Amino acid sequence: MLLTSLRVLMQHRTQYIKHMDRVELCEEFRGRPILNGSGLTAADKASLCRMCPTRAIAFGQKLTLDMGKCLFCGECAVRFPEHVRFTNDYRLASSTREGLVVRENQADAWGFDQTAVRPEIRSLFGRSLHLREVSAGGDNSCEMELGAAGNVNFDMGRYGIEFTASPRHADGVVVTGPVTANMARELETTWQAVPEPKILIAVGADAISGGLFAESPAVNRKFFDIHKPDLYVPGNPAHPMTFITGVLALIRGGSTGTAADPQNEREE
Ligand code: SF4
Repeated sequence: MLLTSLRVLMQHRTQYIKHMDRVELCEEFRGRPILNGSGLTAADKASLCRMCPTRAIAFGQKLTLDMGKCLFCGECAVRFPEHVRFTNDYRLASSTREGLVVRENQADAWGFDQTAVRPEIRSLFGRSLHLREVSAGGDNSCEMELGAAGNVNFDMGRYGIEFTASPRHADGVVVTGPVTANMARELETTWQAVPEPKILIAVGADAISGGLFAESPAVNRKFFDIHKPDLYVPGNPAHPMTFITGVLALIRGGSTGTAADPQNEREE
């Protein structure tokens, strides 16, 4: 029995990611976009805007891409590779809605706005955060990635971040899905059941902007008119690393949010 257990352990080796601050995703991952609007004709601009299924691309003074609307389908980068390129940077979460809008020639760096974080979030939830997840008409993609964030690989529990079944035991709510009319009241009821102070996190394009369903009559987004999220985690679906680094930046600060990784300290 013991030998069998040892053999299994040897085969599996270390399953969790030891150094969360050194994670690099594969080249194919579509993360932070880099934009270059120079040389685009009026026809190109119109074509670029038209092709985007969620109107995430816009031209004001400059070319912009709203990651809160983007489905990361990559179509714009395929058609206009010299003007839109997706890097594999998964650090995309933002404490403000405006922070999700990437501008032309913007520096390729994570600009998490620490000044927008309420001070009580750090002092109360920095070491322990229990979240209630509500799939408000979600398609189970973001929900699966959130489940993966707690698995043995990503192991966000090492930071004291966990999902809980009851909103009465939660410190905040994570919303996925565009908020269908059928889920609007249930989402509000869940939010009201979480004791103050509490945090709100919107995960995925559907939750942040309505995504593909923004104009659907089956969607009721009044919840987000009333309650402003403390954290926006873009993606379609959002990657576990995007979620974990975003939550850590929210509750602990720092640019990566992973400096105080207890596992790292033990393994060094
Ligand atoms: S990758 Fe995003 S911005 Fe580009 S076409 Fe798809 S949804 Fe639109």
